[in-house]
Amino acid sequence: MAYDDSNIFAKILRGEIPCKKVYEDDFALAFHDIRPLAPVHVLVIPKGPYVSLEDMSMKAPPAFVGGFFKAVAETARVLNVVESGYRILANIGTDAHQEVMHFHVHLFAGRPLGGMLKRVD
Ligand code: AMP
Repeated sequence: MAYDDSNIFAKILRGEIPCKKVYEDDFALAFHDIRPLAPVHVLVIPKGPYVSLEDMSMKAPPAFVGGFFKAVAETARVLNVVESGYRILANIGTDAHQEVMHFHVHLFAGRPLGGMLKRVD
């Protein structure tokens, strides 16, 4: 899928739409999710035109990919959730119900988060 720079996170990166910023560096921007599913629910997005992890891993240099994931870890430090624990999750593609077509990692924390997925079998 080609990257469409009219998506909402591209607008946030360009400063056209506000966000509640948590952390920013050369690789990533982290901000609070508008519909939080946990006491802490933050999104970390790469500063590049990548639809998904698949897209970013194929197109971005390894140093960028590494810088992005270091930014995810730094976001957890800034939020002071490393000791209590946190969960990261990324929805990629149709089966995962990805809604925004700019790669993003969800960071959840602030309460016991339960099991990973509801069992359906
Ligand atoms: P996903 O299903 O992984 O694509 O999740 C997209 C997430 O983006 C959802 O959790 C939304 O609540 C969140 N979201 C959508 N628009 C905004 C926005 N303007 N600011 C912050 N979070 C947003």
